Amino acid sequence: MKVPHIKIKPPGPKAREIVERDQKYTAPAYGRVYPLVVKEGRGAVIEDVDGNLFLDFTAGIAVAATGHSHPQVVRAIEEQARKFLHFCGSDFYYEPMAGLAERLCRLAPGSFPKKVFLTNSGTETIEAAIKLARYSTRRTHLIAFLGAFHGRTLGSLSLTASRSSHRAHFGPLLPDVHHVPYGIEGVHALEDKLFRHEMRPDEVAAIVVEPIQGEGGYVVPPSDFLAKLREICERHGILLVVDEIQTGFGRTGKMFACEHWGVEPDILCVAKGIASGLPLGAMIARSDISSWTPGTHGSTFGGNPVACAAALATIELLENGLVQNAAEVGGYLKKRLSGLKAKHPVMSDVRGLGLMIGVELAKTDSARTPDSRLRDQVMRKAFEKGLLLLGCGESTIRFCPPLIVTKAEAATAVDIFAATLKELKQ
Ligand code: PLP
Repeated sequence: MKVPHIKIKPPGPKAREIVERDQKYTAPAYGRVYPLVVKEGRGAVIEDVDGNLFLDFTAGIAVAATGHSHPQVVRAIEEQARKFLHFCGSDFYYEPMAGLAERLCRLAPGSFPKKVFLTNSGTETIEAAIKLARYSTRRTHLIAFLGAFHGRTLGSLSLTASRSSHRAHFGPLLPDVHHVPYGIEGVHALEDKLFRHEMRPDEVAAIVVEPIQGEGGYVVPPSDFLAKLREICERHGILLVVDEIQTGFGRTGKMFACEHWGVEPDILCVAKGIASGLPLGAMIARSDISSWTPGTHGSTFGGNPVACAAALATIELLENGLVQNAAEVGGYLKKRLSGLKAKHPVMSDVRGLGLMIGVELAKTDSARTPDSRLRDQVMRKAFEKGLLLLGCGESTIRFCPPLIVTKAEAATAVDIFAATLKELKQ
């Protein structure tokens, strides 16, 4: 059947019933975007409980790297599930954990030896990185960037600075955390402001950075930004922690985004796409800083064997064509979206790499004021037309489909997006 296929305007009756039950019993903290109620997923297609078929350009927030329920990933999960579901990798050994750690060490940038700590999520990976950075350097200060999103547990939240509402009323957060602007201005602020007036660079444990800001608005930094941070870190014995939780595992058309700029992190943090949807994260650190002793850190579920099996199958698929597909289809998608700008002046910017593309919407006044209301209207209308999109930043729409998406699906998404803007008279 042709996709999208909208049988009944979403949310249909079954979806409405589930949304109502959900809202009665789940925490109001969840910030649901629109009332999509998923029944099944295949590749880049989602079927809702009322039988509508949607084209998925969210990938469950940049997670379903190999598409929904890829048969090879499902097979790996089933095979491992039949053997055993859990045995706590913090206390004992099993092959899928050793195998995945070995694979990740080979995959991560840098030919130096590395060690892996496995977690269940992005935020836990960042927590591990904060702890290792402080432990191994015996320094306390951490530097992050305005607009950054590193997670929501108290340690990672201390680094997060994309929206003040994420942080409000949760303090006090971690001490000794400093934020500077994202980009070259931030590099100057580090040297001219922080290191001169607030603390000595030899008190800084780590600089934590996203190679492309995700939640902050799909912001691509200037091409020399990461290299400049690398150089500052080297000069002062500061660890460079690169958060590739959203950008990693092929999303930007390379296995890791920092490879676009030839920068090798001391600590690489990954999660999201690593296991195609099973909860898993990994902190990959240089061996010589991985100095913590047995018992210093651990996790009951981190490195779950079923999630490890899913990750190994995911990596296989990524290496055998999906990273390449992200580069190719991503290039096509960006070109097609950029081509809409002349007709739709509300599109103030189209940016991104691979299948991590942001379209910023702004008013057509001289200040080009970000138009978050229009962004939300576009997401809702596109949903009703069968295209799933997500927002980020103040007024940006993100296009982050599964890496298995085809050119034809990308073309359909662009057509729906254009029709949505037209219908909203934009
Ligand atoms: N870091 C980045 C760059 C992210 O995009 C996210 C989630 O969106 C996180 C960390 C937190 O990951 P999680 O939601 O799995 O805790």
